Amino acid sequence: MRLPFIAGNWKMYKTMAEAKAFAEEFKKLYGNTDVKAAICAPFPQLSLLVEAFKGTGIGVGAQNVHFEKEGAFTGEVSIPMLQEIGVNYCIIGHSERRQYFNESDETVNLKLKALLETDITPIVCVGEDLAQREKGYQDQLVSEQVENAFRDIPAEKAEKAVIAYEPIWAIGTGRTATPVQANMMCTLIRKTLIEMYGDETADKVIIQYGGSVKPENASDIMNMEEIDGALVGGASLEPLKFIEIINF
Ligand code: PGA
Repeated sequence: MRLPFIAGNWKMYKTMAEAKAFAEEFKKLYGNTDVKAAICAPFPQLSLLVEAFKGTGIGVGAQNVHFEKEGAFTGEVSIPMLQEIGVNYCIIGHSERRQYFNESDETVNLKLKALLETDITPIVCVGEDLAQREKGYQDQLVSEQVENAFRDIPAEKAEKAVIAYEPIWAIGTGRTATPVQANMMCTLIRKTLIEMYGDETADKVIIQYGGSVKPENASDIMNMEEIDGALVGGASLEPLKFIEIINF
């Protein structure tokens, strides 16, 4: 049984003071639900959120990590550093990182392998851009992204990952994939996992949809058969909006 999992992706938003105010309000709102929730915040805010959410069941995630344990990598953060803080999740391969920071299928694979050796749950983002969708390449592209991300990763590790299908044309644009479109792509992702690992493993992987999820469309999206959760950008910045999505 896959429990619904809804994660917020704050991107490069919120100072410490703003994060603290959010946490105080949000933890009062969260509860009485089978939906797992997490906030993926900028690095400086992670300790504060781990502390603020202690005992609430609300998870905390990073938005990126380096695959090496340590080294001369100026500006990077390692997995042991995240573990020390007590972070539960880490987004990898977000399209903004692929687009602006040279994230590639190869580095996503290295990061996924490294995270799956730990108790931090990776959230692996995949998704096509508008030109690829218009040419009808989305199925091939997304299944290749999944195959490349999970290359050389055994089933017993792979089943612990979360995958987020995020069509780039729907991120921050207000343009959402229709629930049917999103469900088709999540079905395709599970089919790819079935081909790689078989039904039993594929069945355990949580697959989220992301891209302009908001209170108004959350229930239509979350009620689709193959969509187990959501990765929410803009609408996770406000406690009231984010809780409405969680209580879809
Ligand atoms: P959005 O972002 O909800 O603001 O479209 C989603 C994401 O990039 O994870």
